[in-house]
Amino acid sequence: MLEQLDQIEEKALTSLNDVDSPDALEKWRVMHLGRSSPLMQIFDAIGQVPKEERPLIGKRANQVKRSLETRLAEREEALRQEELHQSLQTERLDVTLPGRPAGRGRLHPSTMIHRRISAILEEMGFQPYLSRDVETDSFNFQLLNFPLHHPAREMQDSFYVAGGFPIGESSENDPVLLRTHTSPGQIHAMRELAASDPQNPPSVRIYLPGMCYRYEQVTARSEFQFTQVEGLAVGKHITFSDLKGTLEDFARRMYGQFVRTRFRAAHFPFTEPSAEMDIECFVCNGAGCPVCKRSGWLEVLGSGMVHPVVLSNGGYDPNVYTGFAFGMGPERMAMLRHRIEDIRYFWSNDLRFLEQF
Ligand SMILES: [Zn+2]
Repeated sequence: MLEQLDQIEEKALTSLNDVDSPDALEKWRVMHLGRSSPLMQIFDAIGQVPKEERPLIGKRANQVKRSLETRLAEREEALRQEELHQSLQTERLDVTLPGRPAGRGRLHPSTMIHRRISAILEEMGFQPYLSRDVETDSFNFQLLNFPLHHPAREMQDSFYVAGGFPIGESSENDPVLLRTHTSPGQIHAMRELAASDPQNPPSVRIYLPGMCYRYEQVTARSEFQFTQVEGLAVGKHITFSDLKGTLEDFARRMYGQFVRTRFRAAHFPFTEPSAEMDIECFVCNGAGCPVCKRSGWLEVLGSGMVHPVVLSNGGYDPNVYTGFAFGMGPERMAMLRHRIEDIRYFWSNDLRFLEQF
């Protein structure tokens, strides 16, 4: 039996040299140390051995078992190291290579010009007032002096919500629509401020930025969605000179110290009198070019003294208060500045366009 043990040990250790993978190693373990391996059969047979031989055989059997277990652990570790070494060789990581560039975002051209306009207006003392995109007919038109069937509505057709589900003040005769301009915010803002002190409402100096919507045929010059920034100043003793002075100052801050401006009479239902402001064409300096359509001037905003009907709808007594308002289109301004020929680029999500800014 002692001889048998020597043979078992020798055979096992020799065959261990051929083991070259974790799977083969597991097979080897089952074959030489498993329940039905020759070594375990010797342990089972020790009971039948004469009493005096038992300790010697038992001792030797345990030696063999420990020897096999030790070599098994050694081989296991050796295989693991080899595998690690292999993977380091084949999946070599070069830490000196430059990383993959992360796609860097940028601001939308419309956002950029919005921020510029906002920064200028805030410097001039106007505070932002954000108003909702979904409006009622009253706020979008009627309270702004566009009565039902007023011809000016023709130019601002909107998207109506079928059935006109009620939001706040809406009713069956007052349908819900997407605002066609930021002006409904004027009424919301004036009413909020007037409510704070109805006998003596505080003066208003706000600007209203946001998205507007019109049911229009989409062309190179008109989109069904666009942004607007509007300004509103209401107080005692505000005159047309204040309007002119403020807007000329705005034009200088926006377009440069030496920009020339001119005002042309215009008509808007919510202001009276109304005027459009032009600046001298910055492409040709007034000489006439395709951008200014050979006129030498570029139209940049609409403005006027707040109509008494609008003041009183906002809770301000038109006999005591006056005010002015003005509005501009950031996309139009960006188009002029960057000579963009098609307004549809702004909302078509084409990176080739957006990455140019
Ligand atoms: Zn020009």
